[in-house]
Formats: sequence, C-alpha cells, structure tokens
Amino acid sequence: MRRVVAIDGPAGAGKSTIARTLAEKLGLTYIDTGAMYRAVALRALRDGVTLDDSAALERIAVDAGIEFGAGRRTLFDGEDVSEAIRTPEVASGASKVAAVGPVRVALVAKQRAMADTVGVVMEGRDIGTVVFPDATVKIFLDADPFERAKRRAAETPGVSVEELARQIAERDARDSGRAESPLVQAPDAVRVDTTGLSIDEVVAKILEIAVRKEL
Ligand code: C5P
Repeated sequence: MRRVVAIDGPAGAGKSTIARTLAEKLGLTYIDTGAMYRAVALRALRDGVTLDDSAALERIAVDAGIEFGAGRRTLFDGEDVSEAIRTPEVASGASKVAAVGPVRVALVAKQRAMADTVGVVMEGRDIGTVVFPDATVKIFLDADPFERAKRRAAETPGVSVEELARQIAERDARDSGRAESPLVQAPDAVRVDTTGLSIDEVVAKILEIAVRKEL
C-alpha cells in the first residue's frame, strides 16, 4: 500500500470536490469509490437485474472493468458512464447494491489494488474503516443536512431541495444502518464539518492535518 488519504462521510458533505482538489495539490491519484457502486447499479438497472439478486450483482461487480479517466470521467468496460451514473435512480440503486456483501468484497479488492502502485486520495463511506484501516490520513467530512441538500440541488437541475433532502436522508439511513461496512466515522479519523466553509478553507484544514501526519 502506498500513501492513502481516506475521505469518508455522508452524501453531499463535499467529499468529491475536496478529494479531487487534495489529490491535485498532493500529487496523488483521486479515486471515487461511490462511482464504482453507481456503475454496478447502472449495469444492473440496464440488464433488468433486481437489486436484491446478490449472485447476479456479485457477478457484475467481479467482472466490472472500472477505470477513471481525466477529470471525473468513469469508464465501465470502456464505456464512458460519467453522466449516466449521476441520476437519482442510480444513486438510490447504488446504496441498495452497496448493502450486498459480495458486491462490497469484489469492489474493495479492486480499490485496494488501485493503491498498490500509486498514492491515492480515496473517497467513500468505508475507506478509513474497512478498505484502508491503516490509511496515512483519515478524514470524516460532514455538513448540516440542509446544506448538503442545497449543494446537491446546485448539481441536479430540475429537482427541488426538499426532494433531494428526502433522497439524501433515505440514502444516509440505508448506508448507516446496513450490516456490511456501515457508514461510520473511524475512531482515529478527524471529523471536519464543512457547513459554511469554502472549498479552500476545508482543503487548508485537511492539508494541515496531512502535514501533522507527515504525509
Ligand atoms: O458517494 P456516492 O454518493 O457516489 O455513493 C453512492 C452510494 O454508494 C452511497 O450512497 C453508498 O451506498 C455507496 N458507497 C458505499 N461505499 C463506498 C462508496 C459508496 O457503500 N465506499
């Protein structure tokens, strides 16, 4: 394992923007593990696989050729699915397939392999607790639920803040309540509340923590 900065937290806490900026500043590779669960859900929805068919979902996850391109591009078996995985339907589907143990085993193996050869900033729900319990730096990003919904609304035209707040609350409840790798702060993670803070302010806070950990 190379250097790993683990960024966990609930939906809309600012993980993607912060993790991407940190990766750039630290010269590390950015990995969005949520995109991997979303890609599996997308394939299942397209193929008519029900989201509780764990054997079929496991097969999709094991066979999935997931690669990350420049920017926030996600490739699934060579197809650019970057936009297709951002719909509310796929977000909800992702949190359902993410509760299936064998899917997690398959994707966690891929995530660990990604840090074999390069240092990474990896964002998700279980990076500091399960994927890399020995990560160099562990951050748990959080924010006020209404602010999280407002941020998502800015990225999701046509859906109201109230509807997004409802969807986020439902997803958070499922992610925190599941038996397999629930969303929980690692005991040694530093909690950063991003409510009311700018991206630069959050990045500066985390860089300070990284310096203290001699990253
Ligand atoms: O981060 P994002 O919103 O794209 O993640 C989509 C879903 O994937 C989450 O709601 C969660 O259920 C699941 N996920 C997970 N573990 C991760 C990353 C995402 O369970 N490491």
